[in-house]
Amino acid sequence: MSPEVKPDSLLNAEGLRFDGRRVDELRPIQMEVGVLKTADGSASIRQGKTYILAAVYGPRELHPRHLTLNDRAYLRVVYRMATFSVPDRKRPAPSRREREISMVIANALQPVLFLEQYPKAVIDVFIQVIQADGGTRCAAINAASLALADAGIPMRSLVPSVAVGKAEGTLIVDLGDEEDKYGQGDVPLAILPGTNELTLLQQDGSFTREELMEAMQMGVNACKYLHELQKDALKRSYSKKTPEGVDEELDDYEDDLETDLGEADIMEDE
Ligand code: UDP
Repeated sequence: MSPEVKPDSLLNAEGLRFDGRRVDELRPIQMEVGVLKTADGSASIRQGKTYILAAVYGPRELHPRHLTLNDRAYLRVVYRMATFSVPDRKRPAPSRREREISMVIANALQPVLFLEQYPKAVIDVFIQVIQADGGTRCAAINAASLALADAGIPMRSLVPSVAVGKAEGTLIVDLGDEEDKYGQGDVPLAILPGTNELTLLQQDGSFTREELMEAMQMGVNACKYLHELQKDALKRSYSKKTPEGVDEELDDYEDDLETDLGEADIMEDE
């Protein structure tokens, strides 16, 4: 295992970051839909060195039955990091952090789903972090919402997500692991792209009110870009299945989804 090296500085004299990115530049991102044969829906995301798979099963019968909700489907999200996903072997037992992240991801996705259409059922979302290099909860939301769409679950829109952080007094978008560890804090957020409503907002570290407002604006801008990548990934997957006219159909479908965002709840997590 290569020993971890703390960078001398996270920003250089030209204002570029440790890995050469501008402050508002995301890492290279690849999203793919329909990557697992057995799941009802699936997606993968590579964001820098972070690599995540998401699988959706359902709506299906819920076990154990005591979790049943009579008026809607139960959205069960399980976020896990593989033992080999980080240089220090991660203990296989679910950690408090994994349970918390599972919950915040469920809260971020829930407002776009028409769960009331499937009372008593469960929609299972399994998220496996294969390689972790910062920003896993946000990348997981990007992949999970694609996997839900791939499973044909009725949705108001996709949910793009990114973290904005602070290093040496400067706000930076989409932190890598070193920026996460040695920076001054981060603000993961997720939005409904049609209305810019937040479905995830967390904060680690201290930010002034002005910094927080600017961080949210930078995050929303980055989410708009991520949303385009999500739509492209969906289109690519369906273009493979149906050769003709699919791009136009998907554009219409996305437009329909985004006209109906008004009633979504906003959830904030401190
Ligand atoms: N990390 C780690 N071991 C762990 C948990 C996290 O090395 O048990 C690393 C991993 O690279 C992760 C980063 O720390 O992406 C930041 O973790 P955080 O809890 O801030 O969540 P994330 O930024 O991944 O959403």
